[in-house]
Amino acid sequence: MLASALRYAAAGVPVLPLHTGTGGGGCSCRRPQCDRPGKHPRWHPRLITAGLHQASTDPAVLRRWWATWPAANVGLRTGVVVDVCDVDTADGLRLVQALVDCEVPTVRTGSGGLHLYFAATGLPNRVRVLPGVDWRGVDGYVVAPPSTHASGERYRWISRGPAPLCPPVLRALVAPPPEPPPRPLAEIHHPSRYASAALDNEADRVRRAPVGTRNNTLYSATRRLGRLVASGLLDERDVVETLTPAARLAGLGAYETARTIRSGLSAARTRLAS
Ligand SMILES: [Zn+2]
Repeated sequence: MLASALRYAAAGVPVLPLHTGTGGGGCSCRRPQCDRPGKHPRWHPRLITAGLHQASTDPAVLRRWWATWPAANVGLRTGVVVDVCDVDTADGLRLVQALVDCEVPTVRTGSGGLHLYFAATGLPNRVRVLPGVDWRGVDGYVVAPPSTHASGERYRWISRGPAPLCPPVLRALVAPPPEPPPRPLAEIHHPSRYASAALDNEADRVRRAPVGTRNNTLYSATRRLGRLVASGLLDERDVVETLTPAARLAGLGAYETARTIRSGLSAARTRLAS
């Protein structure tokens, strides 16, 4: 454990000691009601009292911690050198694979999920970036190999290498959504800025639309943006090229997506003409 912790620290990744899974859902903290077995920071009045915030790259500090708890799981602070895309379901993995076209160092977690390591983005933690996919960024941490999960399984590297930059399309999903436009269009002093914020906003809404509402969400988003197109504030091609991948990510088919966008844009034109 110590050797691995030292290797991560040598690469600049701050490390913290965590409790260890003991198999059968148990945790080394021995509290029967522990709600994060094998995942929460160790505590000691003289060694570490602030968990994540004391994560360190100092070998002397790490040696002291692992001398006290030789079996402590290894926690890695994210948001400094690396961020981690935490994938828990097969669907989540399919979505992420559709967005990532490079080799990514990957860990199989003790629960069978995957941790994909990217260069730090500077973005904060975010849950449900996509269904079954969370992001660990600034002020987050992950459990790293060779730690032991509550199930008794170890975390293992299944591919290694340098952490690549996060692909822009995935980064856009992790970034906090733009603030909704604060004022009606007529009062906005920078109409083009308003229009591009509206475009981002609607695309985000489409991407996150639950099954059963996706087509309606896409239609009303296209109609609203269509009015901005008709007013000359947005380019129709930008609308199509932004909403189409958003709708596909939400799970709509190519044909349905194209048809709905066409009819939304045409409804916006009609309304403006009347
Ligand atoms: Zn515990």
